[in-house]
Amino acid sequence: MASTPLYEPAGTNPIRRNQRKYTVRRWSVRHARLLEWFYTVFADLLLELHPLWNLIGYSRVEGTVVVLERAAKGFLFDCQMCGQCVLSSTGMSCPMNCPKLLRNGPCGGVRANGNCEVEKEMPCVWTEAWKGSQQMKGGDKIETVQLPHDQSLRGTSSWLRSTAMRAEERGK
Ligand code: SF4
Repeated sequence: MASTPLYEPAGTNPIRRNQRKYTVRRWSVRHARLLEWFYTVFADLLLELHPLWNLIGYSRVEGTVVVLERAAKGFLFDCQMCGQCVLSSTGMSCPMNCPKLLRNGPCGGVRANGNCEVEKEMPCVWTEAWKGSQQMKGGDKIETVQLPHDQSLRGTSSWLRSTAMRAEERGK
């Protein structure tokens, strides 16, 4: 009979999640194609509204947009508001939910059932990312190497940031 260890660490996950079923997160991955389409339309709409954001000032609207973005993406993806969203390259599975915060594929510890080495009840975000990317039109973006995450962007709006970047690229 296996003996109980004398010391078990209270928690090794920096995100400190409660036990849960990950139902909505899995739904998002299963519907990655639909969400990809929706995101394309939504991003174009935000870009169309660039003159308005510019008029009001991006920094003035950011507070409100952050609240909306956190609520919507928190519900659908368990978004951690990294400020540098890569969902379109990761099959709509948020890599910031990896306890090791890996943004370029899984570690070597994925369990045989596809779950995480650290959180055994949680599907590995990268096995999910692969599944989601297989359904997406731009699924091959999963092969793009992501740059290290810029920690100074934490808690900021990816929506506004990418809108401003696209507007700048188009000389708007
Ligand atoms: S990649 Fe970043 S912004 Fe996108 S869902 Fe994950 S934590 Fe949120």
